[in-house]
Amino acid sequence: MHEVSVVSTLVDAVIRELGKYKVKKVNSVTVVIGEMTNLGQEQMSFAYEIVTRNTILEGSEFIIEPEPIEVECDKCGYVGPVKVISDPDFDTHSIPVLACPECGGPIKVTKGQSCVVRCMDIEEEE
Ligand SMILES: [Zn+2]
Repeated sequence: MHEVSVVSTLVDAVIRELGKYKVKKVNSVTVVIGEMTNLGQEQMSFAYEIVTRNTILEGSEFIIEPEPIEVECDKCGYVGPVKVISDPDFDTHSIPVLACPECGGPIKVTKGQSCVVRCMDIEEEE
C-alpha cells in the first residue's frame, strides 16, 4: 500500500519537528494532499493510525485537506481546473484529463501535487 510509505515519511518529519518543542500532547496534524497524488484519504487515515502507534502522535487526529488540481496552458493562457471524467465503474474515482479544457493544448500542472504537513496542534509542557 503506497499510502503507508507516504504517511510514514510525513510522520517522521512531524516527529523530527516536534523534537524542537517540549511536547505534552499532540491534538492534531493537518496535511495537504493534492488530487494528483492519487492518495486515498481513507487509506491515509488508516495508515496514520498504524504508523503513529507507540509514538508521541498516537491518538492524535489526522486532518486531510484535499488540494484540487489546477493547470496552466502555455498556448491560450488558461488557468484553472481540468476536466474530469468520472468512471462509471468506480463512483468514488474520477480521472483528471491533463489537457487544456479550452484549446486542448498541453498544460502544466501548478496545483494538486502537494503532499505536505500544513500545521500541528500541540500542547507544550509548562
Ligand atoms: Zn489552452
